[in-house]
Amino acid sequence: ATPVGLLTGTGRGAQLGILIKGPQVLEDTRTVDTIVLDKTGTVTDGRLSVVRTLTLEPTFDDAELLQLAGSVEAAGEHPIAVAIAAAAQEAVTGGALTPVTGFDSAPGGGVRGTVNGRAVVAGRPGWLEENGVVLSEDVRTWLRAEQEAGSTAVLVAVDGRAAGIISLRDNIKPGSVAAIARLRALGLRPVLLTGDNAVVAARVADAVGIAPEDVLADVRPEGKVEAVKRFQAEGATVAMAGDGVNDAPALAQADLGIAMGSGTDVAIEAADLTVMGNDLGQVATAIELSRRTLGTIK
Ligand code: ADP
Ligand code: MG
Repeated sequence: ATPVGLLTGTGRGAQLGILIKGPQVLEDTRTVDTIVLDKTGTVTDGRLSVVRTLTLEPTFDDAELLQLAGSVEAAGEHPIAVAIAAAAQEAVTGGALTPVTGFDSAPGGGVRGTVNGRAVVAGRPGWLEENGVVLSEDVRTWLRAEQEAGSTAVLVAVDGRAAGIISLRDNIKPGSVAAIARLRALGLRPVLLTGDNAVVAARVADAVGIAPEDVLADVRPEGKVEAVKRFQAEGATVAMAGDGVNDAPALAQADLGIAMGSGTDVAIEAADLTVMGNDLGQVATAIELSRRTLGTIK
């Protein structure tokens, strides 16, 4: 391949909002046969909204639950954190959230901090359990009901006790269905990979045309890298598209790492290619472009 041809492709890519780290990337792009897609922010738009709150302790009302959780999430960066902080701001009279101390966040888990002298933890129910919060049968039933309704259910614990559930929804990006069909037409096998629950993951997969056996849900951040390695061990050449801090190691591990332009800096740094317009269709375009460019050089 001549560098001139490759640079032409790179230049055309830039016009289309596809930024490539180096000419070698086009070679890798051409040979991929599997594309692992992060769900939140990649297939879905990642602008979640709170659909409802549920209190689990009679001493809390919904506004107080949102105020405590929102005050901690205001210090977070995850799309869930942004959504909960915004909902809290709206629900709390005057919109003022309380400053948080001792803030800490766990990728793929959730956040914690102290608000008004109360220890608040918000996150994936399994992560709260790992942190010593006991989930009663009732709480489990509520969580399951929210998930079966298609929501991502965040559990909130206050002073070590399960205090409430915040349910959130996300929307599939308008271009995702067509983009996945194009990726398939290019001979790629699409796989959905997410830290979210299996019910939500299965719904999204069904809506965008990903086979049920190609859905990996409840995957912890370390598990995302393992998943990419597993496909590679099976002989696949893997592209991975993602946007989050938790996707970065998997983007680096993949043969071709693709970051969404709206994603975190960490993801963009780890990736070989970034799509500025944030649309999965650009990922299909990048692969088409590289195949055409290299094809004409041959
Ligand atoms: P995805 O793979 O879909 O991008 P993540 O791995 O980032 O998801 O997160 C997995 C799960 O961890 C979320 O579905 C949520 O339950 C929980 N979680 C992560 N960050 C937060 C947060 N800031 N607040 C509450 N829950 C969170
Ligand atoms: Mg994501």
